[in-house]
Amino acid sequence: RGTLMVQVRIARVSPTLLLLLAEDRTEARRLEAIRRDFVVNVSHELKTPVGALALLAETVEAAADDPVAVRRFAGRMQKESTRLSALVHEIIELSRLQVHGGVGALALVDIDAVVAEAVDRARTTAAAKLISIDAGGDSGAQVYGGHAMLVTAVRNLLDNAVAYSGPGTHVGVGVRCEGDLVEIAVVDHGIGISPDEQRRVFERFYRVDPARSRDTGGTGLGLSIVKHVVADHGGDVVIWSKPGRGSTFTLRLPAANLPPGPQASAHTQE
Ligand code: ADP
Repeated sequence: RGTLMVQVRIARVSPTLLLLLAEDRTEARRLEAIRRDFVVNVSHELKTPVGALALLAETVEAAADDPVAVRRFAGRMQKESTRLSALVHEIIELSRLQVHGGVGALALVDIDAVVAEAVDRARTTAAAKLISIDAGGDSGAQVYGGHAMLVTAVRNLLDNAVAYSGPGTHVGVGVRCEGDLVEIAVVDHGIGISPDEQRRVFERFYRVDPARSRDTGGTGLGLSIVKHVVADHGGDVVIWSKPGRGSTFTLRLPAANLPPGPQASAHTQE
């Protein structure tokens, strides 16, 4: 009789509900794996600048009698600590996006204002390399989303365009409304990215050339952040790039006359 009761109870749970519970567990396991990977990667990435700082501090102490050496090593300490703080900042930003979705309350966002703010912030680094940034400013494009997150995304693309281009080159930002989409394109004439690498650059901590990226203060997180921001806005990112010729990263977001669309992913285009 007892067995019969149990069977009756189980039969009452709908198969759909069981399936949903199983999917929920799979999703929870997937998220847990992502979180674990992230912690391992983060610890690894933090070890390098922290180790370098410890070593440099020891060197400064040992060279205390030599003011020239002290100045040189202090300069390197400053560079490492700037890198460390950029890394910590981006780790916090990315985990916030991963956990909550970072867009916050939806508001109508003026894309020309987003671009103007991002360009303004990127200008100092660009000027140091004699790179000019040209941006048109009157598209009138609007999307639903988060102004600050979109500024971060465009700023990350601009920082990369500057970091991976030669001195004296030009970087451009264009905005246009294409059907139901708003497209924001950041164009550079820098080193470019091969098709194989284009598939990988959105991975966390992935860099085509780790030494070069470290030199330019890169963290390997910039494009992961971009990808999360656009996915949260129901958009995607498209890369066009040719090694030696340059790259164009285009953010495509649903225009504000439409309700925010489903999640989309980053993909590449040769
Ligand atoms: P990083 O902080 O290293 O720049 P990102 O996630 O922003 O990290 O970019 C990942 C990698 O993609 C970079 O290390 C670089 O190799 C490549 N990359 C990104 N943007 C560009 C670009 N505009 N031109 C050439 N390579 C780029």
